[in-house]
Amino acid sequence: MSKFLVFAEFQKGTLKRSSQELLQFAAQTGQPVAAIALGSQADAGVQQLAHYGAQEVYLSKNADFDVYNPELFSSVVSDVISQSGAKFVLASASSTAKDLFPRVSARVNAGLVSDGTELLFNNDALTVKKPLYSGKCVATGQFENTNIQIVLMRANQLPVGAADNSKTAQIKEINYTKPDLKTLITNVVKGASEKLDLTEANVIVSGGRGLKEAANFKMLEDLAQVLGATVGASRAVVDAGWVGHSMQVGQTGKTVAPSLYIAVGISGAIQHLAGMSGSKVVVAINNDPNAPIFQKATYGIVGDAFEIVPKLTEEFKKVLAH
Ligand code: FAD
Repeated sequence: MSKFLVFAEFQKGTLKRSSQELLQFAAQTGQPVAAIALGSQADAGVQQLAHYGAQEVYLSKNADFDVYNPELFSSVVSDVISQSGAKFVLASASSTAKDLFPRVSARVNAGLVSDGTELLFNNDALTVKKPLYSGKCVATGQFENTNIQIVLMRANQLPVGAADNSKTAQIKEINYTKPDLKTLITNVVKGASEKLDLTEANVIVSGGRGLKEAANFKMLEDLAQVLGATVGASRAVVDAGWVGHSMQVGQTGKTVAPSLYIAVGISGAIQHLAGMSGSKVVVAINNDPNAPIFQKATYGIVGDAFEIVPKLTEEFKKVLAH
C-alpha cells in the first residue's frame, strides 16, 4: 500500500488545525500514515499526531529545528521521505512549507502542487483543486510521471472530526548530520498584534480604510475578543502604517480560509478578495451599497461601521455569554 507522510506544524506545543486536517484526510484513505515532527515543540505533540491518525512519527526534538532553516529542513525532510517510502506528502500551505517543499521536490524528484483548496484520493492518486489568477478560476491538477506526489493545502479546507485519544504511534528518531549551512536564520519576530496566525484562524474580523484611523482598530479588537477571532486588515491600512503587514489579507498578504470572515470598511478590491475568497461565510459592513465586497458577501450590512460594530459586539456578548 502507498504511504502518506504529513509534515506536522505546531503552535505553542499544539498541533495546528491544518495538520490535523491533513492527518485525518490521510487516515480516511485507509493507507498507512506517517508524520514528520521537528523541533522541541514536537515532543509534546507526538501524542496528538497519533490521535489524528499517524501510525508512525519521524521525530527529532532537537532545537536545531526550532527556527526554520531552508537548507537543514530540506535535507532532513527529503531524507525522511526517501526512508519512509512515502508516495504522498501532505503539508499545509504555510509560509514555511511554501519555502521548504519546492526545494524538497527538487531533491526527491517529486511533483508538487501548492495552495490546494480541494483534495481527492482515488485509484492510488491525488487530485487537487487550486485557485488561479487571484481566484478568478480554479485549476484541477493531477500528477504524471512522478513516484512522489506533494500537495500543500490551504488551512481550513478539509473537515476535522474528533481526535481518537486511544491511538498511539510508533516513534522513529531521525538521525541526521547537519549540513554545512550557508545561511543561518537567527530569529523570527512575530507581529505583536497577532493572537493566532491569520491563516489558521477560524473567525477573522478585518478592517479597511473605512475605519478612518489606526486607533479605530480597537473597535475591531473588541469584536474579535468576544468572537475569539483574529484581526486582519486590507493593504490600504497596512500601507498607511495603521497595522503591521502580518495582518494583511490578500494577494500580497495572507491567504485565509476561515469559517467566518467579517469585512469592515473594506471595498472588496480583487486583490483583497484573492486572499479571503475561500472563507465559508462572509459578512460585509460598508456604508456604500455598491461596494464590490457585497458581491462576495453571504450577509451584507449597509451602514456606518462606527454604529454597527459596537452594536454587534454588545449583541454577541449577550448571546455568547450563555
Ligand atoms: P478602500 O478601497 O478605500 O475602501 C474603503 C471602504 O470603506 C469603501 O468601500 C467605503 O465605502 C467604506 N467605508 C468608508 N467609511 C465607512 C464607514 N464609516 N463605515 C463603513 N464603511 C465605510 N489590497 C489588499 O487588501 N490586500 C492585498 O494583498 C493587496 N495586494 C495588492 C497587490 C497589488 C499588485 C495591487 C495593485 C493592489 C493590492 N491591494 C491589496 C490594494 C487593493 O487594490 C485596494 O487598494 C485595497 O484593498 C483597498 O483597501 P480598502 O478596501 O481598505 O480601502
